[in-house]
Amino acid sequence: MAQQNIPYKIYLEENEMPTTWYNVRADMTNKPAPLLNPGTLQPMTAEELSGVFCEELVAQELDNDTRLIPIPDEIRDFYKMYRPSPLVRAYCLEKKLDTPAKIYYKFEGNNTSGSHKLNSAIAQAYYAKKQGLKGVTTETGAGQWGTALSMACAYFELDCRVYMVKVSYEQKPFRREVMRTYGASVTPSPSMETEVGRAINAQFPGTTGSLGCAISEAVEAAVTREGYRYVLGSVLNQVLLHQSVIGMETKAALDKYGIVPDVIIGCAGGGSNLGGLISPFMGEKLRGERDYRIVAVEPASCPSLTRGQFAYDFCDTGKVCPLAKMYTLGSNFIPAPNHAGGLRYHGMSSILSQLYHDGYMEAVSVPQTAVFEAAEYFARCEGILPAPESSHAIRAAIDEAVKCRETGKEETIVFGLTGTGYFDMVAYEKYHDGKMDDYIPTDEELAGYAAALPKIG
Ligand SMILES: *Cc1c(COP(=O)(O)O)cnc(C)c1O
Repeated sequence: MAQQNIPYKIYLEENEMPTTWYNVRADMTNKPAPLLNPGTLQPMTAEELSGVFCEELVAQELDNDTRLIPIPDEIRDFYKMYRPSPLVRAYCLEKKLDTPAKIYYKFEGNNTSGSHKLNSAIAQAYYAKKQGLKGVTTETGAGQWGTALSMACAYFELDCRVYMVKVSYEQKPFRREVMRTYGASVTPSPSMETEVGRAINAQFPGTTGSLGCAISEAVEAAVTREGYRYVLGSVLNQVLLHQSVIGMETKAALDKYGIVPDVIIGCAGGGSNLGGLISPFMGEKLRGERDYRIVAVEPASCPSLTRGQFAYDFCDTGKVCPLAKMYTLGSNFIPAPNHAGGLRYHGMSSILSQLYHDGYMEAVSVPQTAVFEAAEYFARCEGILPAPESSHAIRAAIDEAVKCRETGKEETIVFGLTGTGYFDMVAYEKYHDGKMDDYIPTDEELAGYAAALPKIG
């Protein structure tokens, strides 16, 4: 069997890298619901979206039909600096778990920004440059997206303005300085630079900010400045499209050795890495060619798929962005201060939400200390120090492999290892000192947030 001689790391050759992104919407019978204009409640038109986003990205956002979209050579050239990323056989983890399961992970942390977010950042920066723009604006919470975008903008010599949630700006000086090293300007949000920021500061003096509020500021900064557009690192259809490079490479690497996964696992914040990882596999599933179990893993403190509502909701606190139909906890939802900053968004990609609603995937939620336990277990045998976000997928993969030990099933498990945790050592410190808690919202709290959802047919 080919399975006998699987290398530790399956690398594709440069010329085996995907030349197209795969748009899973083309194979969905029930398409994701359109974004709505918050004023008229009508589907957003390309013209309306073009005031905020780059033209080519608007076209990708609205394209439910084109299955394969060519990756421009300029983007592939950049990808070649850190891709193809390795698909690693977790031999050491399997041995330590004493499981008959075969475990693989696709590692996206092999670039300075430290996560998969660079895959979309470079695409979005490229289309902004191609349109002749001067720069882009965005928000960042924990800082991974802002870091990725500042790298991408430096490469294409675009101005990059990042609104960083104030509490992170103050507590994560290293992330901030990496962004500035790549030439981005970083402003703590809420700031006094925008109307939204001034209003929020007046209403809540001393507030340390939130992601939803930083989004409102970044959008205002883009639409009020000539030659600027706003970019976003997750949730949107275009971002899942760009991230499909993860899944295309994973599938190509598995196919090379005749490996067929039984279960595919990924962490889910806004859904971009999971959406990208699963897309070609989901395509086969949607076309009835093959079946896989697909599992989204979210924090128990921010459980949008497992405990949220499938409804139209605002994407930001300031309610300036379009409405999206998604699994959501409500745009007013404030998650407990857990340490996986990238998984604290109140909603979920409309594509994944629709697929989940239609029964094509499962979702589980895991408490924070169990996630760090898995992170440490993994680091000690596989060597990589994982990001807290990624460690949600590690937790679920370990649990699955332990089940195989009990049942004797030789399952093949593939999970997405989205990034490294070097900037998250304060969280690891809390875990090591026994100071981490597992706050889980009550049904009453969630019902309170859900009651504030906009009422749309
Ligand atoms: C942002 C981030 C995530 C979550 O975002 P998705 O859009 O759900 O993929 C996961 N892992 C890491 C390392 C991140 O930076």
